[in-house]
Amino acid sequence: MTGQRTISVLGATGSIGASTLDLVRRNPDAFRVVALTANAQAAELAALAREFRAEVAVVADEARLPELREHLAGSGVEAAGGPTALVEAAARGADITVAAIVGCAGLAPTMAAIEQGKVIALANKEALVSAGEVMTAAVARTGATLLPVDSEHNAIFQCLQGNDAANVRWITLTASGGPFRDWPAERLALATPAEAVKHPNWSMGAKISVDSATMMNKGLEFIEAFHLFPVGVERLRIIVHPQSIVHSMVEYRDGSTLAQLGPSDMRVPIASALAWPARMDTPCAPLDLAAIGELTFRAPDETRFPATRLAREAVTAGGSAPAVLNAANEIAVAAFLAGQIAFTDIAENAARVLDSMNDFSAPGSLDDVILVDRAARARTRETMELAH
Ligand code: NAD
Ligand code: MG
Repeated sequence: MTGQRTISVLGATGSIGASTLDLVRRNPDAFRVVALTANAQAAELAALAREFRAEVAVVADEARLPELREHLAGSGVEAAGGPTALVEAAARGADITVAAIVGCAGLAPTMAAIEQGKVIALANKEALVSAGEVMTAAVARTGATLLPVDSEHNAIFQCLQGNDAANVRWITLTASGGPFRDWPAERLALATPAEAVKHPNWSMGAKISVDSATMMNKGLEFIEAFHLFPVGVERLRIIVHPQSIVHSMVEYRDGSTLAQLGPSDMRVPIASALAWPARMDTPCAPLDLAAIGELTFRAPDETRFPATRLAREAVTAGGSAPAVLNAANEIAVAAFLAGQIAFTDIAENAARVLDSMNDFSAPGSLDDVILVDRAARARTRETMELAH
């Protein structure tokens, strides 16, 4: 990498935020931090903002602003709070913005960053799932560079370099299968939040860990891939790969399959995006395939884990269906984590909400997507009360 670049991290206090800032910390000359944001963790955010000498720190939850101000007193870091401040911080136009807020809550700030036409390192898959065409159109219009941080999509992005997408036969997303991969169907209904967030290979935030357990994470990633790599839904496949070493693959028409391999550490795909098109060091141990020994693969089981089927149906229905699926899932995952519904109710509720909506007309703007998201959340809450 050459020269110093400015960077903003939306969702700085999360798992992706921490991995990103770890790389920034190890490369103090390569980056200057503009904005760091969090939802409500004012003390934690203030400590990061001081350490990285950020220009501005923003809490989305405005009630936490006094606390943030107190922690930042005398630091020279600006403090701000609330959804508008979050969007304004994202619009400061850092050379690279890491979009690492969880859920559709990250959509407006991510779109604000895209409007600046710079580099967006996208971890926040829910934003792309919900806003699909609206977001990709904004990227095309502004000339922004959207670099996927999600490990599968980062792998695919790397495997596509130097190739013509017209020659792609298959894009295959790998899935670990999550902690319940080998559980019998009848046991799944009894799975607890503590069991669901204990991922076998990756250390991640609670929401994506539950999504990995239901396989909705792979469903959302299927939709994410549909938008990032426009080869058509019929060329996208999913395969279960328990070791999470092959992060995804691209097969070409001549029978060549290119795969990207690496440790199960998000610092690898984040580093790939931060340095792109160059490379940077990470502290990750080199891949020791002899020690790993075996890489295995199997077909996904959509009877026990229907989420990937729901995602395929939503992306095929098009329009607002993926945004509805995402919103229903976000509400159901939160209810599951709060102990209000069973594990298997997550996908069941999402299916019911999708079935109950018969207008999937395409949202034409960010505001439209936000309206669809709100309506689907309300519908999911109603559906869950009816069912329980
Ligand atoms: P996390 O829960 O650890 O962190 C989420 C961050 O978003 C935190 O900084 C939190 O304060 C902020 N946030 C939460 N709700 C918010 C709101 N309403 N408004 C503003 N900010 C809010 O999540 P994570 O695991 O770091 O995941 C972040 C995103 O990256 C998700 O979309 C996830 O799917 C994606 N992702 C994560 C991983 C991983 O390994 N963790 C891998 C691939 C993709
Ligand atoms: Mg992933």
